[in-house]
Amino acid sequence: MHDLAISFAGGALLLAVLANAAAAGEEKEWAIHDEARPQPAVVTPGPAPVATVPPPSDAIVLFDGKDLSKWRSSKGGSAARWKVEGGAMEVNSTGGIETEQGFGDCQLHVEWMAPPPAEGKGQDRGNSGVFLMGRYEVQVLDSYQSTTYPDGQAAALYGQYPPLVNASRPPGEWQTYDIVFRAPRFDGEKVVRPARVTVLHNGVLVQDNQELTGPTTHKARPPYKAHADKLPLGLQDHQHPVRFRNIWIRPLA
Ligand code: MG
Repeated sequence: MHDLAISFAGGALLLAVLANAAAAGEEKEWAIHDEARPQPAVVTPGPAPVATVPPPSDAIVLFDGKDLSKWRSSKGGSAARWKVEGGAMEVNSTGGIETEQGFGDCQLHVEWMAPPPAEGKGQDRGNSGVFLMGRYEVQVLDSYQSTTYPDGQAAALYGQYPPLVNASRPPGEWQTYDIVFRAPRFDGEKVVRPARVTVLHNGVLVQDNQELTGPTTHKARPPYKAHADKLPLGLQDHQHPVRFRNIWIRPLA
């Protein structure tokens, strides 16, 4: 009788938890890179802009198409060696790059282009990445008519959250990310407020103030590790000739 009472109480508790989760619209927690996770619906964004939109007056311009003076190699701080040509920088297998300046909370605008013609499949197709604080990746990938594990496609918070929809343009067309990032806050070694990210991909909302579980790594979701309030913004070299242009940032109070 006693056992039965406990199991009944447990069942009621479970039902209450499930009802709560449903009421809060909480999602099931998916395993990292779960191929069974639903593929985001495809949304055709408006056409690529004919010209770049100039940054707002208070933005820090990180790349205006001319040079990499605001950037350095992510390894050891030597000069950035990506190719600069035709108003764009291009990944050239010389390693990732990062800004000289550190940033925390920010609004960030990045334009990127996957190399045409499309080559390779899944992750091996126009792969790069925007690394907020050098740690938290918004994935760059050619996801136009190409699938991969959903938490690794274009505009995914890599290994954690797929975009709400797939708003990709074809390779060879410029795409935009407009990102609002709130850095994590730490009290000593303890995270007291996780990082939050909002992303618009080609003007379409794809990450809605999403809380990150921790830093980005491959095939793992490690916990937060305390770090400085401001850290360099990184761009990934994944050995694919992805291009970037018109990168600007507005630090937020
Ligand atoms: Mg990447």
